[in-house]
Amino acid sequence: MAAILELQDVHAAYGRIEVLHGVDLTVPRGAVVALLGPNGAGKSTLMKVCSGRMRATSGHVHLGGSHVNGAAPDALARAGLCMIPEGRGVFPNLTVAENLRLSGLAGQATTAQIYETAFTRFPRLAERYDQLAGSMSGGEQQMLAMARALVTNPAVLLVDELSMGLAPLIVRELYEVLAQIAEQGVTVVAVEQFADMALAVADFAAVMTHGRVVAFDEPGVVRRDLAELYLGGDLG
Ligand code: ATP
Repeated sequence: MAAILELQDVHAAYGRIEVLHGVDLTVPRGAVVALLGPNGAGKSTLMKVCSGRMRATSGHVHLGGSHVNGAAPDALARAGLCMIPEGRGVFPNLTVAENLRLSGLAGQATTAQIYETAFTRFPRLAERYDQLAGSMSGGEQQMLAMARALVTNPAVLLVDELSMGLAPLIVRELYEVLAQIAEQGVTVVAVEQFADMALAVADFAAVMTHGRVVAFDEPGVVRRDLAELYLGGDLG
């Protein structure tokens, strides 16, 4: 399978403190990749580098074969890469409809198309059209975040900690939607600290510890080796 997103020897730092120490990762086109690893391993930092929110200090990031390290988030969004950040990134003081319209501004879609895309996938959002995003439940806000990503018609969707603060049942539901999105050809990279739900829908799993990807394999293989990989990565 051809790679849609490829990282080679990526280093990144906050000030003088380097936290990514040479990440190699190949994301096959159309795959769902679960990116796992303990707290502080560098998963969110890697997502920031991939989405242009942070610049790698060295190494290569390729999207669809083009070198994109240093490209701004909006340029990457136009190139088909969309990220749902940790904490979801919805505007709490705007309504569901306003959140969706703002997100769709970057693309070519009309307002009607934006609503059609969002509400077909998440009918519950249609019922909450005029509700302020910040007054919805965590699960509904995550649906809105996913809908906002979908209306940009992404080729690659990066999701950071979909499960954060949500009940297991809702997390399962959201991962099922993510799997349906992937079935329509969207490549998905899902960062998760709690592996099970992500592994259930993933085609591949990557494990990060200490700023490097230390394993990349099928979910079954990674699930078996996970404890050892985490412990080898020093959880303390
Ligand atoms: P978590 O699951 O806890 O979010 P993670 O694997 O996503 O962990 P990162 O958030 O990428 O890990 O953090 C990697 C390292 O970078 C950690 O040591 C963290 O303290 C540090 N770090 C993260 N964000 C910043 C920041 N804004 N400024 C300075 N250091 C940071």
